[in-house]
Amino acid sequence: MQKPDILMTKPMLPVVEEQLDEAFTVHRLHAAEDPDAMLAEVGPKVRGIALSWAEVNDAFLAKFPNLEIVSSFGVGYDHVDTDACLRAKVMVTHTPDVLTDEVADTAIGLMIMTVRELGQAETWLRDGNWTKKGGYPLSQATLQGRTLGIFGLGRIGKAIAKRAESFGLKIAYYGRSQQAGVDYPYHASLVSLAEACDTLMVVAPGGAETQHAVNAEVLSALGPNGIVINIGRGSVIDEAALADALESGTIYGAGLDVFEQEPCTPERLMKLPRVTLLPHVGSASQATRNAMGQLVVDNLKSWFETGKPLTAVPEMK
Ligand code: NAP
Repeated sequence: MQKPDILMTKPMLPVVEEQLDEAFTVHRLHAAEDPDAMLAEVGPKVRGIALSWAEVNDAFLAKFPNLEIVSSFGVGYDHVDTDACLRAKVMVTHTPDVLTDEVADTAIGLMIMTVRELGQAETWLRDGNWTKKGGYPLSQATLQGRTLGIFGLGRIGKAIAKRAESFGLKIAYYGRSQQAGVDYPYHASLVSLAEACDTLMVVAPGGAETQHAVNAEVLSALGPNGIVINIGRGSVIDEAALADALESGTIYGAGLDVFEQEPCTPERLMKLPRVTLLPHVGSASQATRNAMGQLVVDNLKSWFETGKPLTAVPEMK
């Protein structure tokens, strides 16, 4: 039987590429000398796409008249226009659950690093200041007694909450609606959540609905003790407003794993002393990335073997 033709948009993990090569005829867009010419030639044959961080919209879909499925690497899929996919009758899958614990662990690590300035303290040691100047200055913030406001109490948000409870933090949350069976106090607006907490954990998806949801008003409501952690998507925070709030002392500090224009990190944030910055490493362990890659493969295989995906995005269900 002829193997289905699929397109890969970027290099993927070896474990993924090996399995895709075995099951499919794989066309590698990133390896093409002339991507447009390649797409013109193979586009009509392509029935599936193994997607990593490429935008999918009407114009992109038009190049693949026989496309059946986009299997996207990652749980967030704000780069995929699901309305356009529904119109084109293209299934979209993502990789939820397998990364939840890893990302929650990273979020907690980033929160503690930020509150206690651990990255800065390590730099102090590595620069020889411990021997030359003495101990690192006392952190003016502490985790103890903080209230964690979670913006996006989904799979990862709940895993963060569970961990934070064991640290003795009080928890509250905001989302589009109050969740049945969840005892944490619910706030119907982000400003209300920010007023009620001093540590705002952003773990909501990107996209038009959440674009710049964390703005100057929310930061002002968080107040001078306030710390913002973003493990969700860069677009959810207005970065210029965040830099203003940090520079003026409107809030205390920030820990960011995601940015508006990755991989660029704003100079203003880089210069600030109470800011911890990570290069989007939330899920970035070998084991977790392999599990995510495996789900990309398994969704494609399941689709072509049974006509059903394993983990369709909610819009497809
Ligand atoms: P999830 O289970 O779908 O949870 C998302 C939560 O956000 C839900 O509780 C939802 O609550 C809330 N939400 C969605 N749209 C909203 C809106 N317009 N306004 C307010 N709240 C909204 O997703 P997840 O698996 O926890 O992943 C969450 C996000 O984390 C992903 O989308 C991705 O962007 C990010 N992520 C980042 C990394 C990293 O490396 N830093 C890794 C993995 C994931 P309601 O439905 O009640 O509104």
